[in-house]
Amino acid sequence: MLTAHTASGKQVVLTRQMSPASLRDWRKNETFHCPQCKEQVLLKVGEIVIPHFSHQQQTNCRDSFSEGESPTHLLGKTQLYELFTAHQLPTVLEPFLPDIKQRPDLLVTWQTQQVPIEFQCSTIPISHVNERNAGYRMLAMLPIWILVTPRAIQSSSASVLTHRFSRFQQHFIRHIDSVASEQLSIFLTYNPEKQQFHYLSHFIHLRGTQFAVCHSVMRMKHQTVPFAVPAAPSSAEIQELARHYLTARRKYLRSVIGYNQRGIHHRFLRACYEMRIQPIQLPAWIGVPTFGQEAFTESDSEWQLLLIAAMRQTRRTQFQLDAGVLHSFVKTFEGDSVKQLDACKHYVDFLRQRRIDIYRMDQFSGGDFVPGILAGRFLAMHARN
Ligand SMILES: [Zn+2]
Repeated sequence: MLTAHTASGKQVVLTRQMSPASLRDWRKNETFHCPQCKEQVLLKVGEIVIPHFSHQQQTNCRDSFSEGESPTHLLGKTQLYELFTAHQLPTVLEPFLPDIKQRPDLLVTWQTQQVPIEFQCSTIPISHVNERNAGYRMLAMLPIWILVTPRAIQSSSASVLTHRFSRFQQHFIRHIDSVASEQLSIFLTYNPEKQQFHYLSHFIHLRGTQFAVCHSVMRMKHQTVPFAVPAAPSSAEIQELARHYLTARRKYLRSVIGYNQRGIHHRFLRACYEMRIQPIQLPAWIGVPTFGQEAFTESDSEWQLLLIAAMRQTRRTQFQLDAGVLHSFVKTFEGDSVKQLDACKHYVDFLRQRRIDIYRMDQFSGGDFVPGILAGRFLAMHARN
């Protein structure tokens, strides 16, 4: 932790303005105490970890300082503290909120609101995150969680990348409302070693927990308060997102043949067989990133082909579609069926607009709808800007 009380009860906040030498001198003549349990704590001034206070070994007090003493966490916490104070915002480091018995890393006063900031370096149970959020909600506070930048992204300078989001990471994707039916999704991370924020945004679901995303880096000294929001992707970035999407699509369609050889029952393959088409030869209008596609964990190629199969069973076209078909279709998938239904409707809209003949698998086999669809999704999302 970075805060303590002196013997006379004065609060101490360790900042980087205090030199190690002066801190070493100070601790010769002063004792420091935990603000929580009042036990004496040690002021540690070393080479690797930034100066910090630490309890003696045997203590029950660790609970409210939940993160332990990881060097990355301490460093990030102090840098974020400096960021908010540099913006002249009243900021308290490690404040104890007695009503909910919680201690956010920072509490920033923004206009009339108090905003807890949590810099999260370790993976903790999602239930603990929800409990802390529930506590803040009781105080009418809306916390901001900043995760430490995942290792795979730390050294990346790519403006578009494919990333597998753990369930824990997915929990911290923020959704910002926009005028479009799609929200802007942002995954905000901070890397204290390089003093920079890494943003992942404009999520395009690929398959399972994989997404193609825009990636932008912002140096701490350029960060604003409230935090900057990523801009709309450039047309080059949209092309790049499309390339990642199509690579993943091709990879999936190539790999799926392998399921058959291993004798795995797979309804996608069965549908391909019934339509007399090889997975890799699917027309370009099956496997497209229409609105809401992330409601399915399956690849777009898979759920969209199965939807085409379900529609063909009724011997109707997308123009004569009965809503009941979609309702029973989404029931065969795991996940949020309301959102899946929405995704299906957007896909059917796409089939209507392009006047696709869903009984002709040989049409548009060379066409590529992806860049145009992605441009449309993001254009609408950023329409207000
Ligand atoms: Zn304590």
